[in-house]
Amino acid sequence: MEKRVHEGGCLCGHVRYRIEGEETLAGSYCHCTMCRRATGGEYEAFVDVKKTDLDWVGVAPPSVYRSSAAATRGFCGRCGSPLFFAYDAGKGISLTVGTLDDPTVFRPIRHDGVESRLPWVRCGPGLPEEET
Ligand SMILES: [Zn+2]
Ligand SMILES: [Zn+2]
Repeated sequence: MEKRVHEGGCLCGHVRYRIEGEETLAGSYCHCTMCRRATGGEYEAFVDVKKTDLDWVGVAPPSVYRSSAAATRGFCGRCGSPLFFAYDAGKGISLTVGTLDDPTVFRPIRHDGVESRLPWVRCGPGLPEEET
């Protein structure tokens, strides 16, 4: 499998990251109420990468807070852009699609938190659906 470097970062540019991954990055749409509040959007789109494939390369690392008993979320401490969600125990980290320099590499493979999906949201038709 050919590896490719993907880059991204927050709105103000202080927090930047680099991912070594596949040509496209698989991920999900999450409709849960926590992601909705965390991002201010009607749902959140994430690409799932391995923590070991991700490097923070900007002026500052992300600010991190505990968003539940099992997970943390990261954001830029200067401009506030939401950057990631990660389970403490997992090997993976979910980066917000909107912070990728080229978000077109997002390859959605499922929906999460569909019990909270808003009735007028129409993204990702036909993908597998999971509840939170
Ligand atoms: Zn920023
Ligand atoms: Zn969620």
